Amino acid sequence: MARFIFITGGVVSSLGKGLASAALGSLLQARGYSVRLRKLDPYLNVDPGTMSPFEHGEVFVTDDGAETDLDLGHYERFTGVAARKTDSISSGRIYQNVLDKERRGDYLGKTIQVIPHVTNEIKDFIRIGEDEVDFMLCEIGGTVGDIEGLPFFEAIRQFSQEKPAGDCIFIHLTLLPWIAAAGELKTKPTQHSVKELRSIGLAPDVLVCRAQTPIPPKEREKLALFCNVRPERVIAALDLNSIYEAPLVYHEEGLDQAVLDAFRISPAPRPNLDKWLDVADAVHNPDGEVRIAIVGKYTQLEDAYKSINEALTHGGIANRVKVRVEWIDAEVFEADDAPAKLEGFHGILVPGGFGERGTEGKINAARFARERKVPYLGICLGMQMAVIEAARNLLGIENAGSQEFDHEAKGGNARFEPVIFHMSEWVEGNRTIKRDVADDKGGTMRLGAYDAVLTPGSRVAEIYGDTDIAERHRHRYEVDIKYRERLEGCGVRFSGLSPDGRLPEIMELPDHPWFVGVQFHPELKSKPFDPHPLFRSFVEAAVRQSRLV
Ligand code: GLN
Repeated sequence: MARFIFITGGVVSSLGKGLASAALGSLLQARGYSVRLRKLDPYLNVDPGTMSPFEHGEVFVTDDGAETDLDLGHYERFTGVAARKTDSISSGRIYQNVLDKERRGDYLGKTIQVIPHVTNEIKDFIRIGEDEVDFMLCEIGGTVGDIEGLPFFEAIRQFSQEKPAGDCIFIHLTLLPWIAAAGELKTKPTQHSVKELRSIGLAPDVLVCRAQTPIPPKEREKLALFCNVRPERVIAALDLNSIYEAPLVYHEEGLDQAVLDAFRISPAPRPNLDKWLDVADAVHNPDGEVRIAIVGKYTQLEDAYKSINEALTHGGIANRVKVRVEWIDAEVFEADDAPAKLEGFHGILVPGGFGERGTEGKINAARFARERKVPYLGICLGMQMAVIEAARNLLGIENAGSQEFDHEAKGGNARFEPVIFHMSEWVEGNRTIKRDVADDKGGTMRLGAYDAVLTPGSRVAEIYGDTDIAERHRHRYEVDIKYRERLEGCGVRFSGLSPDGRLPEIMELPDHPWFVGVQFHPELKSKPFDPHPLFRSFVEAAVRQSRLV
């Protein structure tokens, strides 16, 4: 039966609760324990699938097809444990479940209330798979004091009372602001945040405090005294150069020891941190640098492409180089002088995206990479753009385009010939799934892991070292297989297809030093200690390119 660790936040948001949770998970693993991490989000969206990447950052997709918060990406990258649908929940989903049950009559005429019906639903969620791991880490989104967070705090309070004493602990993450005029780290906001927690019946066992400078003994004692936490369980979280230092730095600060002490696990198994020492060494001592341009739409918020950014770092770790990423707004490439802006990069990556804005720029970027023989990685929409580019400029279909930008493409007044079309029917296991463009926007895509078969001898088969792969998808549109032969006649190779041969999964240009487009999202499965083969190979190609320019 699992022990439970609840992680809450206070004072301000964006303190790195997800990262702290992920790093703690990896430290418990380093001591030989099995872990699973979960995120409980108080917002009312049923899932983050419909939220703007500008607002909420990237949508992380699990193997089993859930659209989740980007913190699940951190969890996977640090622990290597594949997240599942049942590792992420929002208030919206909880209420949806409760209301569905109410409509079905499951509550037998009772009045439905936050306590017990909503809190029970939350507790049932927390318990899923509790007998599978040693530790279940549950992060509560938002900060203590938020109105919508209350049912979650109440549920974890009840939960810890129902479990045998000592099976649950609470970690509270706060901020110690630095007041330059006084030359001091201030503890008062943390004291208030803990007071707020205690007023709803929760007492933290461990305090993790984000701070710009180490916490002086006087402040540490003050925090311990006023927050009712032992001084050795006040952990400083200082700013890091790389997030991959987090496990080592938290270990030095004593986070994992504090947690095991709080559970009274003694003697604690010794940790093996070799994996993280290797990662930190590669990050800190690179043998060079490559410059990669990411030509996308959501470039103002780096979190919108979180996993791609991280996967490139992993590709850098694999090749022992620093990857310098520059974000370029795709619309910039719609101008005539666009190519000049791509000079000097060692690789070009066009990521996933939705909607027409910026796509002509992405097509120009793909053309530049093809003609100038710069390594190109196209992901999802980035593959679709590369196929459109090839159809226009190699095959001569001048108005090649995607049905996404032109729902009328099949009718008489289409702007585009739909080389990329809306897939209204596909096979999942032994079921046929049907979808209409006009369906709800929530959860109507090809989502989650699907198998693909690679052509023996192709570049991608060599990169993967295998011909059977499974990768995660999140899209509505597909390359129309009917163009396959004609495109292959002009130098494109579809080197990966769905097992039934109907859906192109990978395109490559065999006569180019490195040009690969994939319909899926390889970045979601990359780890610092196990970089994804495509990112490893793409960065390797960029290193070769850097020696040429
Ligand atoms: N908008 C495209 C589609 O739905 C690509 C999606 C993506 O890049 N994730 O097919």
